Amino acid sequence: MPSYVNPEKCDGCKGRDKTACMYICPNDLMTLDKEAMKGYNQEPEMCWECYSCVKICPQSAIEVRGYADFVPMGARVTPLRGTDSIIWAVKFRNGTVKRFRFPIRTKPEGSIRPYDGLNQPGDLRDIVLAGDREKLGAEIPVPAGK
Ligand code: SF4
Ligand code: SF4
Repeated sequence: MPSYVNPEKCDGCKGRDKTACMYICPNDLMTLDKEAMKGYNQEPEMCWECYSCVKICPQSAIEVRGYADFVPMGARVTPLRGTDSIIWAVKFRNGTVKRFRFPIRTKPEGSIRPYDGLNQPGDLRDIVLAGDREKLGAEIPVPAGK
């Protein structure tokens, strides 16, 4: 089932240039209607159902559901993301609702130091990969204009 933005919950990521769902979608499917300030999936049939947009949306506005011509009875999956877990509310076609809670992290939020004990990468605009100079033991010339 592809992603579907509930327009009542979406706030357009408060008008940022790139919304969270646009940033995360590996298939570039999510886009923003700049007049309505609502995100939407512009090609639901191309959605590979990775759920990345569903999980990142700060408003929990993205559900996954069948579109009317495919699942006409209203089944849907709705997320509710917390700081340490996510709850999935699964509504079946007969109206039954089941909720599943899963942990989403093992360390407290903000406690991870990604470069702990490692060298920080250098200039991210550098054409040389981080660590190349140290690994190769050579100074790599940078072309003029870079
Ligand atoms: Fe709307 Fe959520 Fe997408 Fe932001 S991430 S534009 S709130 S659907
Ligand atoms: Fe893109 Fe994955 Fe969301 Fe589908 S579920 S719109 S592929 S981020």
